[in-house]
Amino acid sequence: MASKARKTAKYIFVTGGVTSSLGKGIIASSLAKLLQARGLSVTIQKFDPYLNIDPGTMNPYEHGECYVTDDGAETDLDLGHYERFLNVRTSQANNVTTGRVYHNVITAERRGDFLGKTVQIVPHITDELKRNMLLLGQTGDYDIVITEIGGCVGDIESLPFLEAVRQVKFELNEKDTLVIHLTLIPYLNSAGELKTKPTQHSVRMLQEAGIQPDILVCRTEHPLPQDIRKKIALFCNVQINSVIESMDADTIYAVPLMMLKERLDQRALYMLDIYNDKDLDLDAWKTFLSRLKNPVDSVTIGLVGKYVELHDAYKSIVESFIHAGASNECKVNIEWIHSESLTEANVIQKLENLDGVLVAPGFGESGIEGKIAAIQYVRENKIPFFGICLGMQMAVIEYARNVIGWKNAHSVEMDATTEYPVINLMEDQKDVSNKGGTMRLGSYPCKIKKDTLASRIYGKLNIKERHRHRYEFNNEYLKNFEEKGLLATGINPENNLVEMVEMPSHPFYMGVQFHPELKSTVMNPHPLFVHFVKAALTYSHEKRAAISRIG
Ligand code: GLN
Repeated sequence: MASKARKTAKYIFVTGGVTSSLGKGIIASSLAKLLQARGLSVTIQKFDPYLNIDPGTMNPYEHGECYVTDDGAETDLDLGHYERFLNVRTSQANNVTTGRVYHNVITAERRGDFLGKTVQIVPHITDELKRNMLLLGQTGDYDIVITEIGGCVGDIESLPFLEAVRQVKFELNEKDTLVIHLTLIPYLNSAGELKTKPTQHSVRMLQEAGIQPDILVCRTEHPLPQDIRKKIALFCNVQINSVIESMDADTIYAVPLMMLKERLDQRALYMLDIYNDKDLDLDAWKTFLSRLKNPVDSVTIGLVGKYVELHDAYKSIVESFIHAGASNECKVNIEWIHSESLTEANVIQKLENLDGVLVAPGFGESGIEGKIAAIQYVRENKIPFFGICLGMQMAVIEYARNVIGWKNAHSVEMDATTEYPVINLMEDQKDVSNKGGTMRLGSYPCKIKKDTLASRIYGKLNIKERHRHRYEFNNEYLKNFEEKGLLATGINPENNLVEMVEMPSHPFYMGVQFHPELKSTVMNPHPLFVHFVKAALTYSHEKRAAISRIG
């Protein structure tokens, strides 16, 4: 068999200015999607300026969701966008933080790698940054590596990153690197004008760091007229067709097509000296978008969690619902329910109008009883239920308490001395004291039992899913649960851990110890979400039919 030709990568850097939250991750993903649709092999990596080694130890309120890759890296949520847009897997190499870079340099210093030398930000930290920036490109797998630089131009923390980008740009051939700067063109209502000054300042700051951006992507709420584009080009030292308009979109999945219209991909290829006249293969993407924008039905799903004020804390779950909704031609409305606000007394009122309930992953004690009350209600009323990680663990506790009758059953995470530790600390976690990167993380195999809801949903018996937890279903009690109708239908074949539970007497009751939301992509919506939405649709149709019969 002929071996695959090694590719020589070119590098695109995406920086941001004026303000954070302009959506560098979405622009990077959209450009990558367009390049991929032209047959190029593309990956994206994110460089984060904070000092944590990874976001695994951060509160979701600080950072949003922690996205876990197949190889068990706890990473920035932008990596979720990269995977969802490109349908390719990322890994630890795709997310580098200042903390990790300093850790590597200081470890090398202790080893004596720099004996006799003073270790400094330039060149030691910048060298380590450059090494990481070029790493994926050196695998020979990619035509293009896009690097998103977290933070904003002008932040103290971003300086070494920009210096590393400057050096890479200087050291490689001119046509092998490209810098795209994402910026904001605000509209001043009182003046009735789009303002270019913040962009001029931001570009000037980039120039002070020694970087002339090649392309400016301008976020704006109003179309950019030609004279404004000309002005930006003139003041920022770029050609006018390097000024790209990026209007607010009603869905992030429309952004690739908007960037196509603005010819961002063509401009990038031209400046990188890549000749490509392929027809773009975006048919499947367009079909997805049209299904997303033209739903024929709708369902309302309750998302019960404790970080619901910050929707980014559940980013991958929300996106999985978008993929699954489009696949069912159905709009999925999410009703955000704070688990701490739920009690046995108000659970009916809060849940009775929903077509399905998802109990979210999480850590710690708060909101636990609310989650359990929600699960009891949907179990008894045969409302479709989907529990993920902590959501599955709470389902097991609810079943133990209310069906088996063990009133004080609990997880040892919340009650270390419970009489019935139905959720227990995993054996290999017992001696772990460090918090960072020590959970059961990444992809593990799971064997599904035949003739179960899980086997019908997946259409196969051997699957792999990603994990992030310390506690597990306690197999000592498995028999008690199965006798009472809660079955373990997905098992890790290597260590027997229970990965999936279901209740055959319920129309849709699924608890999973893993995180299926991390593997749902536009092109491959996750089957568990697709079937959960389908079950919610069926439930809502039946409910409507019953009401009209009574009416
Ligand atoms: N706190 C639980 C555990 O560590 C669940 C974790 C999660 O939901 N990701 O096992």
